[in-house]
Amino acid sequence: MIDPRCVGTVPQEYGRFKELKLADCWQSKVAILYCLLVSVACMPDNDNDDITHDFTRDVSRRRIMQAGGSLAVFGIAGTAEGFDPDAFDVTPLERRPPPWPPVRTDEAGFTRVDHCRPVRRWTARPASHKRGTDAAGGERAARPVTIANRHKPSTDPVAIMVDATLTPIDRGTITADVNNIIEGAVLGTAAEPNPETVMEDAPVYNVVIDHPEATILWDTGSHPDAADGHWPADLYAAFEHTGLRPLEDDLADAGYGIDDIDMVIQSHLHLDHGGGLYAFEGTDTPIVVHEEELKYAYYSAKTDAGDVAYLAGDFDRDLNWEIVHRDRRQLVDSLELIHLPGHTPGLLGVQLELDDAGTVILAGDQAYTRENYEQGHPMGGGLLWSKRDWYESLRTVRDLERRHDAQVCCGHARADLEAMQDGL
Ligand SMILES: [Zn+2]
Repeated sequence: MIDPRCVGTVPQEYGRFKELKLADCWQSKVAILYCLLVSVACMPDNDNDDITHDFTRDVSRRRIMQAGGSLAVFGIAGTAEGFDPDAFDVTPLERRPPPWPPVRTDEAGFTRVDHCRPVRRWTARPASHKRGTDAAGGERAARPVTIANRHKPSTDPVAIMVDATLTPIDRGTITADVNNIIEGAVLGTAAEPNPETVMEDAPVYNVVIDHPEATILWDTGSHPDAADGHWPADLYAAFEHTGLRPLEDDLADAGYGIDDIDMVIQSHLHLDHGGGLYAFEGTDTPIVVHEEELKYAYYSAKTDAGDVAYLAGDFDRDLNWEIVHRDRRQLVDSLELIHLPGHTPGLLGVQLELDDAGTVILAGDQAYTRENYEQGHPMGGGLLWSKRDWYESLRTVRDLERRHDAQVCCGHARADLEAMQDGL
């Protein structure tokens, strides 16, 4: 019998246990043994020096799900011994509508489920304290983390997830030749050797992710002086930017101060995404960025090689960088970062599991517009670090969309910005 109150939290899904917290009691030791057994079950057959606790790189999804399912069964077995079933977070593996598969109890009194997700939380934990104040100046109330009740399945099949809100921040408009956005969008023909160029508007937006564990800002937009010399003149001429304002002002209009932001996720460090980092200079606010991105940004900004869209004036500052390595990282509960190289070497997508909207993927500039994503048309060569990687990352996002029935938000798509403004 495992007392879930001793087990703490296992927030990682897909067989990762790096955040496992345990109390010092015999039940916890049994739990450790169990998790180790599951971990071993997750191990690949072939020896690989590179193995860490992140098994997702090496293990088939089926085996990971099997391990997660075992954990869920393990959790429910605890309830058979008289613990509060509401403390467990078990929902069907498939996002199928109710009725969900029956929960059966065997002769030994152990409850089994046929389909389940990995257990994310073993116990209902108190909502974490959030700093900051509300618009009226009062202390912002902490919000509870939603725990699914397996006895009363909601009519919404996405019953778990996190009670977080997304607030898009419109940061102005970039106007550029459509050939930058869609490769070969306007091409000459024998009959029409000199077709008209087409200039297209695209919004620049950031998102405040108001999460029970942290208030997170996704991207920081363009520097407010982009038109006044901060951007090189030829770059500004090709990518004219209107509606430029300081990040602080745009955030304030949405009800947030710089001090409210606990963490910044930089999808990448291009000049229309990392231009607001000045606002975090000298603070200890973690600036989350992928290792490959930061390396390539410095390489590009400090030498004549690389990509002209990285400006040292944006990111070569006194910042508290938080580096993401490899392919995936869970940042907070129900928020996972996904490495999507292609547009740049270290582009990071965000996968969110929301109470109301279900799975949302902030794909960033992996796809500038819906057309890049839906039609599979890559951006123009100037906006692609590696076309081969871009196609691979496109498959990654499409696969996630299919498996999670996700809403994908493209980096500069007006329709996606408006959908977010409408609450998704
Ligand atoms: Zn970009």
